[in-house]
Amino acid sequence: MRKASKRRASKRNASKLSQQDLDRARRYAKLYGITLEQYDRMFKRQAGKCALCRRPPGRTRLAVDHDHKTGRVRGLLCWFDNHKFLGRGKEDPVRHERAAKYLSSTFDGRKI
Ligand SMILES: [Zn+2]
Repeated sequence: MRKASKRRASKRNASKLSQQDLDRARRYAKLYGITLEQYDRMFKRQAGKCALCRRPPGRTRLAVDHDHKTGRVRGLLCWFDNHKFLGRGKEDPVRHERAAKYLSSTFDGRKI
């Protein structure tokens, strides 16, 4: 009896979430070990913007960026920064340090 009422209560709470949110909650738990509440806290911490380009999300929500080796959840990124800038297999910090130097360099190939 007690178990059944607990189950009903949790179903009631769960029913407040849309199926899409329930799917998202399951995905975040499985892939990143975080809850929707933790996602929301990170989102708030980043003022609702991508951690790299600092733009608010467009039609797609910010993605959870994590270190594939350690599982550390680094933050939330827009689709472009998550897939194109960091992308799979491009998580080498040395490469990104080089990219930062490369972009801030005054080198001009027209003057070589
Ligand atoms: Zn971005």
